[in-house]
Amino acid sequence: MRRAFVFAVMLGVCPLSLPAAEPPEMQVILLGTGYPRPDPEHAGPATAVLVGEKLFVVDAGRGVVLRLAALDLPPSCGVVGSRCLAAVFLTHLHSDHTAGLPDLFTTSWIFGRAAPLEFYGPAGTREMAAALEKYFAEDIRIRRDLTEMLPAAGATLNVHQVVQGVMYEDEAVRVTAFAVDHRPVEPAFGYRFDFFAPSSADESYPQDSSSALPFRQGTASAVPNDDKERRAFRSGAQTPRFLRGDPELGQPPSPARRIVKTVVISGDTRPSDNLIKFARGADVLIHEAYLPEHFDDVDSPAVAARLKRYHTSADEVGQVAAAAGVKLLVLTHVIPGDPESEKIFLERARKHFKGEIVVGKDLMRF
Ligand SMILES: [Zn+2]
Ligand SMILES: [Zn+2]
Repeated sequence: MRRAFVFAVMLGVCPLSLPAAEPPEMQVILLGTGYPRPDPEHAGPATAVLVGEKLFVVDAGRGVVLRLAALDLPPSCGVVGSRCLAAVFLTHLHSDHTAGLPDLFTTSWIFGRAAPLEFYGPAGTREMAAALEKYFAEDIRIRRDLTEMLPAAGATLNVHQVVQGVMYEDEAVRVTAFAVDHRPVEPAFGYRFDFFAPSSADESYPQDSSSALPFRQGTASAVPNDDKERRAFRSGAQTPRFLRGDPELGQPPSPARRIVKTVVISGDTRPSDNLIKFARGADVLIHEAYLPEHFDDVDSPAVAARLKRYHTSADEVGQVAAAAGVKLLVLTHVIPGDPESEKIFLERARKHFKGEIVVGKDLMRF
């Protein structure tokens, strides 16, 4: 029963219609399916993961707060989910993925987030966090010390530099970062969300598949995270190593836990074997995609060639989904995002992937 419930895929573009009854325990919501070019129908890249009353946001592109405002989140979550916002995860620091972050940081504080914003991202994230606090310094002083007297902690960020491995885990969800290939932007990450059954769950649920993930237990480092390591990585002198567990988080999760649903978010990447490993058997793969002819039309040959080298075409994304054996492929970061192109994306991806495919639109839920 429960399994059937969580595997039920809810598709639809209506932004304001969560079922009136009991809210689902877990939902993944496309907040923004666009890319750098402004488009009122497609906010910048951002995805919400709602688990009970915890809200996780992966990337925070242009318009993320307005899209959050369109969600019928539990009332206890406050405005734009401010009191439920458990963490923000960045895949990489391209501006289309971070342009909405200042708004998310400050608006969630103004409307109820009393604790620091838990902020996960690659190298450079710490500097971005410091810059945000500086950018809003005068507003923070006013709202904290003069007018609303808001809690000081909410005006800060708690930075977690991401490496490949388990970055977050609680009783309901585990978040695993994995390296993708968006070079020369590196490191860049995708995220895998494994949702757990309650401990009292039916024994027939599938076993936690974490042992199938390509971790090497006990390795102390991971993908390159500073300039020196990045140079070594580029030159081939260093192969990325895999980490099972954030050293700050301690022990890896108990193997006895049961996963009832897995959702994988690609971030920006060219076709990545490492993504295929980490997405193996996922229920939902949310993956970027583009049409090559669009770059040929709107960009110079040199720029078009560069863009094609670090993104994934409609054909390639079908191949990736087939290789990973996922159940549902959702395209996001769709370039271009016009309705006429939707059919082309589907036709090309379907040549390779026989499962269900959806071209993502803002506020679709899975
Ligand atoms: Zn992007
Ligand atoms: Zn990018």
